[in-house]
Amino acid sequence: MQNQAFDEQDALLRMTICGGEARVALLRTTHTTQRAGDIHNASDTAIAAMGRMLTGTAMLSAMMKEQQAHITTVVDGGGPAGRITCVANGGDLKISMTNPHAAMPQRADGAPDVAGLVGKDGELTVIRDFGVGQPYIGKTSLVSGELGEDFAAYYTQSEQTPSIVSLGAIVKDGIVLSAGGVLVQAMPGCSRETLETLDLRAMLFSGISRDLFEDTLDELAGRWFHDLSPVMLGRQPLRYYCGCSREKALQMLRAVGRDQLIEMLEQDHGAEMTCHFCHSRHVFDENDLRALIGKGMN
Ligand SMILES: [Zn+2]
Repeated sequence: MQNQAFDEQDALLRMTICGGEARVALLRTTHTTQRAGDIHNASDTAIAAMGRMLTGTAMLSAMMKEQQAHITTVVDGGGPAGRITCVANGGDLKISMTNPHAAMPQRADGAPDVAGLVGKDGELTVIRDFGVGQPYIGKTSLVSGELGEDFAAYYTQSEQTPSIVSLGAIVKDGIVLSAGGVLVQAMPGCSRETLETLDLRAMLFSGISRDLFEDTLDELAGRWFHDLSPVMLGRQPLRYYCGCSREKALQMLRAVGRDQLIEMLEQDHGAEMTCHFCHSRHVFDENDLRALIGKGMN
């Protein structure tokens, strides 16, 4: 496919506009979303939902001052998708969904029925783990299950930051043609005039998945914000990365406790753990279990 936008690497552009009164994140997650769809062998609707969720979570991660924090987002809206869990650590993203094979017919306007798949009877939970101390947990009720509005509601209610969030993905027969989004946030002390300007600008983002298919991030930044004195702050590459390992799986196994390990040894003669995010299988034999049990566990 000869398409500069499609070939562009996944990334997040950060910039300020309106003399620093607002900030913007512009994201492409096409290839990350494709990877998620391939790993989970997901339906087109599920891939579109995962694309929006990956993008929304990457936004949250990028806008945090504490760069070391892990962000986990969970959406459980009561729809056929089940629970969706997404993790961002800097530019590393991963996602899991209870029923990635669940599918919905396309809506009359041709858009994927993400809201139908996700449901809206539930919450968006955001967990920020700084590696030390208690993680910070914020929750907001789902607005529509379309995910863009739900992330916007989280920013506005839980963080008291008026925000415009637009998320989108185009998926056809398992192929992700585009995925990504834009976040525009008013900074504290933002003038009423700037807020009104930003509100008007929101209309531009209604066809974001199509725009992302046709234009690169820099082209979109220029088209949408050139008259608002944009100042580019940085470009962060994004990718699908799980980071699970045999060692980490072993730690989890250790945490189940001695009695259960003995049961696994006697009944199953081993243990097997499959990662929810990358489907890697971590297999442990009798000797591995005996070594764990023998290590003075209680
Ligand atoms: Zn994994």
